[in-house]
Amino acid sequence: MGFRHTPFFNFVDTLKKPVCPFCRTVASAGRRYLETTLYEFVNDPKVRRQVAAARGFCQKHARVLIELIDPLGVALLHETLLLELADAQEKELFGAPKAHCPACQYAEEALVLSASILLDNFDEPEIQAYLAGQSRICLPHYRFLASRTKDKRILASLAQSARQRIRDLSARARAFAEVQNATAASAPQRDNVSDLVWIECIQFFSGYEDTSHGELER
Ligand SMILES: [Zn+2]
Ligand SMILES: [Zn+2]
Repeated sequence: MGFRHTPFFNFVDTLKKPVCPFCRTVASAGRRYLETTLYEFVNDPKVRRQVAAARGFCQKHARVLIELIDPLGVALLHETLLLELADAQEKELFGAPKAHCPACQYAEEALVLSASILLDNFDEPEIQAYLAGQSRICLPHYRFLASRTKDKRILASLAQSARQRIRDLSARARAFAEVQNATAASAPQRDNVSDLVWIECIQFFSGYEDTSHGELER
């Protein structure tokens, strides 16, 4: 059993949102990395080297970088990469990057940390209630959690939680499809249906880091 401390309570806080807590962690860590880098480290040779080694940022973080609107910061951050590749030969120019996107690396560390918080505090009532009730953990992150424990009891409990979520989605997807396919005679029923099950299906199977749908209630 883990020690109940601030990171634990911060993690429990994220469980209150109707989105996968790990997708949310990954999204906010990536954004935080880019914000901090633009604010403090655009001239830091080590950071510039990381950007150069990764051959820039992945598409996901490139989009965040555009959203942050810092033209000078972005230009400076890419300077080393641009200088390095301006005269590069084919092998270097077209070779695979030597490192992953630095924002992805930072987000991965945050994911490992929050997965440890859940697994180390697995028997705490907040975690148990979440897994048995309104879990919004996506399947990729259930898989990630499962990959980080060998405890059969925890694995069984994670599987039970995932199955419960899948059964709920399955029943609601079926009901949703039936109403959508209903004949004209039962058309009035459609007016009462506002089911976000299709969004939840996408979020469950693919993970979904954009939280713009996060505040929608079921
Ligand atoms: Zn997720
Ligand atoms: Zn990235």
